[in-house]
Amino acid sequence: MSAFDDSHDPKRISWVESANGHPLFPIQNLPFGVFSTDRQEADKRIGVAIGESILDLKSLAKSALLDEHWRLALSLPALNAWFGHGLGDARALRLRLSELLSDPQAKAKVEEHLVPVTEATMHLPAHIGDYTDFYVGIHHATNVGKQFRPENPLLPNYKYVPIGYHGRASSVRVSGTPVVRPMGQRKAPDADAPEYGPSRRLDYELELGIFIGKGNALGEPIPIGEAAGHIAGYCLLNDWSARDLQAWEYQPLGPFLAKNFLTSISPWVVTPQALAPFMRPMPPRPEGDPAPLAYLADPAERGALGIRLETVLVTQQMRDRSLPPYVLSEGEAASAMYWSAAQIVTHHASNGCNLQPGDLIGTGTLSTDDPRGLGSLLEISQGGKAPITLPSGETRSFLEDGDELTLSARCEAPGAVPIGFGWVSGRVEGLGG
Ligand code: MN
Repeated sequence: MSAFDDSHDPKRISWVESANGHPLFPIQNLPFGVFSTDRQEADKRIGVAIGESILDLKSLAKSALLDEHWRLALSLPALNAWFGHGLGDARALRLRLSELLSDPQAKAKVEEHLVPVTEATMHLPAHIGDYTDFYVGIHHATNVGKQFRPENPLLPNYKYVPIGYHGRASSVRVSGTPVVRPMGQRKAPDADAPEYGPSRRLDYELELGIFIGKGNALGEPIPIGEAAGHIAGYCLLNDWSARDLQAWEYQPLGPFLAKNFLTSISPWVVTPQALAPFMRPMPPRPEGDPAPLAYLADPAERGALGIRLETVLVTQQMRDRSLPPYVLSEGEAASAMYWSAAQIVTHHASNGCNLQPGDLIGTGTLSTDDPRGLGSLLEISQGGKAPITLPSGETRSFLEDGDELTLSARCEAPGAVPIGFGWVSGRVEGLGG
């Protein structure tokens, strides 16, 4: 089946006028989220972004305009059940929404289900049962490895196994949630013993989040050729990281309290259908690298995510002086990922581990080969050895109180209408607010 249908037509426009030429949400995007309005604070509902409006799918699903088999899942305050419907229904609903939002005849019936985005508060898109973070950004893994093992930055398993660890789902929050500087154990290299106190090396990690659609039964792996059918969509993910806590605690079992104090995600889930025009072939493996083992050999011709990523920083002083955000990095996901999203999903389930609708998977920090596209301050400041100077004259090795960090993403390709993810932001608060 072709990945393209009428919903991808670059000439298609919407009667929702703000959608036409919208930098994030033209009719070719149609990302899913969960929102509430001031009028109905407690009433969380599923919606689709279209220009400066949100189409309320809970109320739309009650009408005869949508397939009644979708009504229950679309009436719930989280996307899990809808994600569990799988790829066929995801394509069919997208096509139907695209028709309704482009057909001038449908305007009279659909318009009443639109909510201005300015009246909406966004929430987590799904109840996240499990959260796993991978480490597929090979330039990030190399840059970080070099700080510890200059001669041999990548461990021998890296090119065979998509490395990951189980994160914590309870502290995943939507964009805008304050970042409370974590307390923890840290030990300076020359100190005899650790001390307990606020992290002094607070960092971010630029990642993409993958939401699982249809799950797999316990004990039944997901074949690589079917993995794409288990992905409901993508968001931006900031894996806030306390590097001093991490350095002291991570051996022998890996990340723990340095990571699980907060993970922030963007509110809109961009579907694989919307991303179809922007997918591209995976970059060829460097000469001499092993081929993936057969269960990870991805037959997809275009398995790499052509998503442009940007990270900006605004400090308290910059805000006070109305200085523009400072661009920390610009890069692209496709060139940063050694393993594709499909390989990540297949590997996760390869031992029979059951993935469930709404589970969240982080890719790992996405740094490019180019120094302008580094996805963490650990890399940008070289572990604190090379602080950056901001337009305000301030310097930064790691995040300070009052700093606000924003990740955003955008897709562009010849012949396609550009789409955007929106953003995920967080401002660092000192202890005690
Ligand atoms: Mn991470």
